[in-house]
Amino acid sequence: MTFLRLTDLPLAGKRVLIRADLNVPQDDAGNITEDTRIRASVAGIKHAVKAGAAVMVTSHLGRPTEGALKPGDTLAPIAKRLSELLGQPVRLVQNWVDGGFDVKFGEVVLLENCRANKGEKKNDDALARKMAALCDVYANDAFGTAHRAEATTHGIAKYARTACAGPLMAAEIDALSRALENPARPLVAIVGGAKVSTKLTILAALAHKVDQLIVGGGIANTFLLAAGNKIGKSLAEPELTGEAKKIIEIIKAKGGAVPVPADLVCAKEFSATARAETKAAKDVADDDLILDIGPQSARLLADLISKAGTVVWNGPVGVFEFDQFGGGTRTIAEAVAQSKAFSIAGGGDTLAAVAKYGITDKISYISTGGGAFLEFLEGKKLPAIDILEQRAAAS
Ligand code: AMP
Repeated sequence: MTFLRLTDLPLAGKRVLIRADLNVPQDDAGNITEDTRIRASVAGIKHAVKAGAAVMVTSHLGRPTEGALKPGDTLAPIAKRLSELLGQPVRLVQNWVDGGFDVKFGEVVLLENCRANKGEKKNDDALARKMAALCDVYANDAFGTAHRAEATTHGIAKYARTACAGPLMAAEIDALSRALENPARPLVAIVGGAKVSTKLTILAALAHKVDQLIVGGGIANTFLLAAGNKIGKSLAEPELTGEAKKIIEIIKAKGGAVPVPADLVCAKEFSATARAETKAAKDVADDDLILDIGPQSARLLADLISKAGTVVWNGPVGVFEFDQFGGGTRTIAEAVAQSKAFSIAGGGDTLAAVAKYGITDKISYISTGGGAFLEFLEGKKLPAIDILEQRAAAS
C-alpha cells in the first residue's frame, strides 16, 4: 500500500491537522480511567511539534449528538492529559470548523470533539472542505476509525492540500499488510469467539489466504457439527454448517486443514462456578456445553503455531473469562508468544486474553483497531486508508 507518511514530510512553518483516536474510557465524573490511546497518539503530535509545525489535533469522544455538545462530550480532560504527556500546554478550541483561531508554530491545540460537528458522521462535503482549509497537511493517525468514512477520516483527506498517515496509522497498515499481503509462510490464522455468523466473511476471506485455519470457541462448535460430531447444548449455528464445510474445502484444496478439536472441556451450565470436565469429542453428552478446547487439541494447535511464519489471531478459543475454561486460550497465547512467527492479535476479547496471560509484549503487533482490524481481515478496503492511497497516487 502506498500512502504519504507524516514522518517523511517537511513540516516546518506548516499548519498540521492530526485526526487522532483519543476516545478513552472515563468514569462518571469525566476522569480518564485508561489512557493508552492518548499515549499512543503522542508520537505523531511530538513529531509535528519538533519539526516546527503549528499543530491542531482532533478526535471523537463517545457518541455526542451532532450540533449539541454536552458537558460530558468535551475533550477538556483529554487536553489536560495530553498536555501532561507532551510537557507543554494544550489549548482546547471550541467551534473551530470556520477557523478564526491562532496556532503558533510549535504550539498544540486540541479541536473540540469532532463528532459534535454537524455532518461529521455523514461525511458532509461542505464540512470536510472547511476543515481541510484549516491546514496545509492533514494526517490521519486514527486506525480505529479507518473503517468509517466520516468528515474527519475521509472527506477532509480529499480536500486537504496534503493528506498523509500519521505514524500509528502507518505502523498498523504496515503490520497488517505484512501479515496478509506478503506473509512469511505458513500463514496460520486463529479465529475464535462466539459465533460463526459474525465472522463468516473473515473466515471466508482468510480461507483463501491462509495455510492453516484454527477455529475455536463457539465457532469450533459449528465446525464440529459440520464434521458430524454431537455438541450437546453448546453454542453453535447449525444453519451455518454448510458454510463451515465450504471453508474446510477451500483450505483442503490447498493442502491445508481446519483441525477440529478431538478433546473438549465441557460443563453442565454456563457459569463462573461450573465444574469443568475434559472429554473426548465423541463422548460429548446431550446435556453438555462445550466451553473450551481440551489440552490434547490445544497442544496440537500450539505445535502448528510453533511452525508458522505468520500468525493472525482474533478471538479466544474458549470462555477464558472463567479460569476453568481458559486453558485452551492460554496454551494458544503461550504458543504465539514463543513462536518465531510474525504475529498480530486484535479485537477486544483477544486483547483481554493476551493481557490476562501476560504475553502482550511478546506479540509482534497488537492492533488497536477493533472493527477496523476485523474489516481489514475481511479483505475490505478501509475508506480512510483508501483515500490516503488515492491522494498519494494522484500526487
Ligand atoms: P467474539 O466477540 O465473537 O470474539 O466472542 C468472544 C466471546 O466468545 C468471549 O467472551 C468468550 O467467552 C466467548 N466464547 C468462547 N468460546 C465459547 C464457547 N465454547 N461457548 C460460548 N462462548 C464462547
